[in-house]
Amino acid sequence: MTSLSDLPLRDTLVGKQPYGAPQDPVPVSLNVNENTHPLPEAVVADIAASLAEAVRGVNRYPDRDFLQLRAALAGYLGHGLTAEQLWAANGSNEVLQQVLQAFGGPGRTLLSFTPTYSMYPLLADGTDTAWRPVERPADYALTPDFVAAALREHRPNIAILCGPNNPTGTPLDLDTVLAAYDAFDGILIVDEAYHEFDAERESAITLLPGRPRLLVSRTMSKAFAFAGVRLGYLAADPAVIDALRLVRLPYHLSALTQAAAQAAIRHSGEMLATVADIRAQRDRLAAALTALGYLVHESGANFLLVGGFADPTAVFETLRAQGILIRDLGIPGHLRLTAGTETETTVLIEAIAALAPR
Ligand SMILES: *Cc1c(COP(=O)(O)O)cnc(C)c1O
Repeated sequence: MTSLSDLPLRDTLVGKQPYGAPQDPVPVSLNVNENTHPLPEAVVADIAASLAEAVRGVNRYPDRDFLQLRAALAGYLGHGLTAEQLWAANGSNEVLQQVLQAFGGPGRTLLSFTPTYSMYPLLADGTDTAWRPVERPADYALTPDFVAAALREHRPNIAILCGPNNPTGTPLDLDTVLAAYDAFDGILIVDEAYHEFDAERESAITLLPGRPRLLVSRTMSKAFAFAGVRLGYLAADPAVIDALRLVRLPYHLSALTQAAAQAAIRHSGEMLATVADIRAQRDRLAAALTALGYLVHESGANFLLVGGFADPTAVFETLRAQGILIRDLGIPGHLRLTAGTETETTVLIEAIAALAPR
């Protein structure tokens, strides 16, 4: 049998591992930060009707520039954005990949502040972009001075600020984004995958006017409860969108994806109605774990990074055996826990409370 090491793989991919969060069919699945609340039935029916209509047209290629969807996304984001400033792809992972294809590549570098989203180095590898991780301060919080110093020192072609940051939950302030933008002359991406959970903070979208190197990415996979559809998007200067058009595959967004996403955006109020409950569950989980003696890091997202586990891998396996899936990211003493429904959160709290006391 042939193994991977027998093949003439690109040098930069040798020895690398694919993204691989477990996908066990367990009753309480809290390991990839999905919104675990089901979609409202009326919304399901309207999306299904839109899909049925779209199926009638699938003998033809879809709208390559998906202008209706871009207009709908611009309307959803507000701030006076127009369709020419919007872009979308099959998940924000694909959007980020396109940004790296357009602005990264051989001889170029991508910088981000670790621990952060585990896909960034994989996307760098896939596009032959050098990955330059800079470790966050002890409390994971980024300050304007810290970020500006790192960008001045390393001068990357692309930098990503993830806010709220996955996997730490750490919120990101706009003065840090501004300091980053002014500190180097490359592309600055603010990954706002969890922005809807962080109602207190303004979006980096407010900083777009006059800043053509600033890109703000979002996704329908988290708060919007639409992970299975694969729809991520980005707001930026129209010139950036022109650059992404050079690398996207023609017709990359299927007619069905476009129809489903537009229908969901028509119901954005109902789709996002669970956000308040998820935030309440996150805060309940934080209070319960703090009372049990664990270290809970500040979070603006739908998950918590929690420290104080003597053996995180053993706790991960103990919970998995009980049908509860959480995330072990290899951060010493820590695990990442997603806030689910009230029932799921209760099951999680009780399972952790039943572990050996700390
Ligand atoms: C989940 C996540 C994404 C989005 O993934 P999709 O491809 O849109 O499903 C992007 N960035 C971060 C930080 C995430 O956690």
